[in-house]
Amino acid sequence: MLVSERKPLEEILGLLEREGRRRLFILGCNGCAAASGTGGEPEVLELKEELERAGKEVVGWKVLDFLCQKGLIRAGLRPYEKELAAAEAVLAATCGIGVQAVAAVLEEPVYPACNTISLGGVRGEWPGAERCLECGQCFLGLTAGICPLTACTKQLVNGPCGGAKEGRCEFEPDARPCGWELIYERLKKQGRLDLLRKSPPIFKDHAKMQPPKRLRQTTRWAVELEEVARR
Ligand code: SF4
Ligand code: SF4
Repeated sequence: MLVSERKPLEEILGLLEREGRRRLFILGCNGCAAASGTGGEPEVLELKEELERAGKEVVGWKVLDFLCQKGLIRAGLRPYEKELAAAEAVLAATCGIGVQAVAAVLEEPVYPACNTISLGGVRGEWPGAERCLECGQCFLGLTAGICPLTACTKQLVNGPCGGAKEGRCEFEPDARPCGWELIYERLKKQGRLDLLRKSPPIFKDHAKMQPPKRLRQTTRWAVELEEVARR
């Protein structure tokens, strides 16, 4: 399970206002995000109210079963085409994988309403292409919904290293596209290249990659630490 925390409202508003987004569609997730208390129906309705109080127009909202599943996103949003067409942006109250999957499916700019802070357990095999390092500081709203920590081999958060050749990463050109070229191309498609030109640099707080203390007090965490110590 991917454990997430809601971003503070000011941070969400800051992201939206940076690009002048007023009309929003909110997506929640009945999977890990609902279990984390960040993306179920009550939290989505609370977020809707907060945004409306702050002057935003919420043109629609929906809680889908698993926002990490692109097939479910496509099918679940089919009845909402009109609302999505009216929205200037989609706010996804879910984990980093869910935000990436929604951004891969929709043409609208997608912004994260949460930070993913932990796996809350062991890492299984994930069949989808999206990856999240649970960095606790989700900046997918600035990178067109593509995670630079997992898409870029060097985990660069402020742009490419300059080593890419023909769109491929210099490290594994046969196996990996350059993550930053993917980000650039999607931002360009969405007419958002100004984000790269005008955004202040991202400061990655690596301390946030450690799950919060309350999650490090579980039996499972203790067992994992023991496992690591034994290796
Ligand atoms: S920026 Fe990447 S690693 Fe961090 S929470 Fe978002 S998807 Fe996960
Ligand atoms: S070539 Fe692209 S993906 Fe590879 S390390 Fe450089 S910026 Fe990152």
